[in-house]
Amino acid sequence: MKPVVIVIGGTDCSGGAGLSRDIATLTELACEARPVITAVTAQSDQAVQAVKPVSPDHVAQQLSSALAASPVSAVKTGMLHSGETVRAIAEVLADFATIPLVIDPVLVSSSGTTLLSPDGVDVLKTHLLPLCTLVTPNLPEAAMLTGNECSEAQAENLLEMGAQAVLIKDGHGTCDMSIDRLFQDCQPAREFAAPRLSASLRGTGCMLASAIAAHLGLGHSREQACSLAKDFVGHKLQQVASEV
Ligand code: PLP
Repeated sequence: MKPVVIVIGGTDCSGGAGLSRDIATLTELACEARPVITAVTAQSDQAVQAVKPVSPDHVAQQLSSALAASPVSAVKTGMLHSGETVRAIAEVLADFATIPLVIDPVLVSSSGTTLLSPDGVDVLKTHLLPLCTLVTPNLPEAAMLTGNECSEAQAENLLEMGAQAVLIKDGHGTCDMSIDRLFQDCQPAREFAAPRLSASLRGTGCMLASAIAAHLGLGHSREQACSLAKDFVGHKLQQVASEV
């Protein structure tokens, strides 16, 4: 049977990011995706034109139904929109602590629109991070969540907030190699490196976190899941680069 992975996030009608990217990734990795919609966005690669949130009660209802349908191997969150929605999700997930939870802390779209409200950021830190197996901020998100500029300090802060592990992604870095770093309690950072490609593809953050959730659901360790997911995204970027 295919592992089932619940993906909680927003829709993107341009198909670049959000749930469509999550579902495509999980399908390719031989998992069954169960989408839980937090918001419906109208957007293009250039801008987000509108965001229509789904009520927090209905998000919780979708999540409860998805969890009840049959055993779930992993959960991944993306765009969560508001504090009330984050709280509703955390309340449901608190009863499913054994299911691996990967949080992609989506705060702002690459076109510059806020996708999680300031109170949403607070509730994510206090209520959702303590439930997670792994949080996957990029460099700007790690800085926004912690107020720190140094990766070690950022990771320490996020671990103190209750995350079991932190993967700081280097997609926004500038060196020739893109080096993601996995921090877990009391262990030296584990590095995952790949050549930085000039190809640009929206939704790579969604893709990476979904691929990690898929590999956790398939039974891999956290380190293996991060490594396999990094390879998966690197391969996709190479495909895009070769098409240009
Ligand atoms: N829109 C939705 C619904 C998303 O979930 C995300 C990221 O997770 C984004 C937009 C942001 O993607 P990008 O940074 O590629 O614009």
